[in-house]
Amino acid sequence: MSAAPQIKGWCPSAWRPMLSGDGYLVRLRFSCGILSSEQARAIAALAQRYGNGVIDLTRRANLQIRGIAEERIPGLQTELLAGNLIGSDAGDIPAVIASPLAGRDRDALIDIRPLVRELEAHLAADSRARDLPAKFCIAVEDGGRLSLQDVGVDIAFEACCRHTRIGFAVRIGGEHIGFIETDNLAETALTLAAAFCSLRTRQLSPARRMRDLVEEVGTSSITASCPALSRASGHTKAQRHKHAWGGYAYDGVGPITEDVFGLAAPFGSFSGAQLALLADVAAVHAEGELRLTPWRAVLIPAIAAGAIDRVAAECARAGLITDACDPRRYVAACPGAPACPSASVATRQLATLLGPLLRSRDTLHVSGCSKGCASSAASSLALIGREGRYDLVRNGTAKDTPVLFGLSPEDVCLAVKRITTEDLAHV
Ligand code: SF4
Repeated sequence: MSAAPQIKGWCPSAWRPMLSGDGYLVRLRFSCGILSSEQARAIAALAQRYGNGVIDLTRRANLQIRGIAEERIPGLQTELLAGNLIGSDAGDIPAVIASPLAGRDRDALIDIRPLVRELEAHLAADSRARDLPAKFCIAVEDGGRLSLQDVGVDIAFEACCRHTRIGFAVRIGGEHIGFIETDNLAETALTLAAAFCSLRTRQLSPARRMRDLVEEVGTSSITASCPALSRASGHTKAQRHKHAWGGYAYDGVGPITEDVFGLAAPFGSFSGAQLALLADVAAVHAEGELRLTPWRAVLIPAIAAGAIDRVAAECARAGLITDACDPRRYVAACPGAPACPSASVATRQLATLLGPLLRSRDTLHVSGCSKGCASSAASSLALIGREGRYDLVRNGTAKDTPVLFGLSPEDVCLAVKRITTEDLAHV
């Protein structure tokens, strides 16, 4: 029974599998989250052949093949390499999250795909990037329809209009720090990342995320070595549409435009059969491309006219979530026990049981431990495993202080029923 979450300090990759409770897992990244039908089909087949058939879509828009036996790892790596699903470079580089419809969004100000590829190449080649903490993440937005404002990243570039020119607004740890020309994106990212590394090492307890460093030292010391930054005025799409949209909560499920449809798997875990079906649906009804999003949803772009309902129906038949109001979309749960060694409780069975008890607009997070991998956002109800029992947090995250402790699954069901039928203040 685990007493505390294990902080590993590194992220898995194809070349650096991570041992979990259900065997090893490998993580696969795709530039701009773009995956062809052929690639998706190949991953589905490899997950069934080498793993336990489960493929997670992570909050960094990566795929994870789970449940791999140690002796099968070299065979899987060989096949991933042969299928061009991974590169031969074993180096860890920070995650780059791009607007999920990059290059296909008519509302976008710029096609960011080449800039993201350039940034990834710079990060892979520059030794400064190796010193970054594992969770460090960079976002590049095209100023289009799907905002990444709600995705917690360390450095964010958002395409914007400055007079008649397109540039990028830059944020670090959520704070706006200025604008850059498009040509300066990669170098600016590396300079800010290097400043982060250098300043954090001077701290007694080095910051792991940019927002922590910004809180400690302010933005000016981090941007001091960044000559490409300009303070001149510009307008991001977020600034222009803030009031009209009334926020940026978005989860990527349902029709996005007349030719883009989003869907998700319960708890973000696809079966091999579901991923293979998505590959076929995208090939038959669209242009054979899938887009992975940080909302743990998959988008199918360029769907043929009139085919969107068929896409939705085929995906729903396969058990996927196709309706943004589906209650399963409001329930988050990490793999829990026995899949994760940090977990002392099962999570998804309980989450499935509790989902129907929720009131509309309630959200539920069941976490195997206080690390809270499945969701960093506050939930109406959060259940956190501890020493084989559950603690219950109201309107908070897995790290917040519980109001009820040491509950059995039966106690949890009773408590949730009471909470969802009575005034929460009396619980
Ligand atoms: S939150 Fe869940 S998946 Fe993450 S370390 Fe804890 S038990 Fe494991």
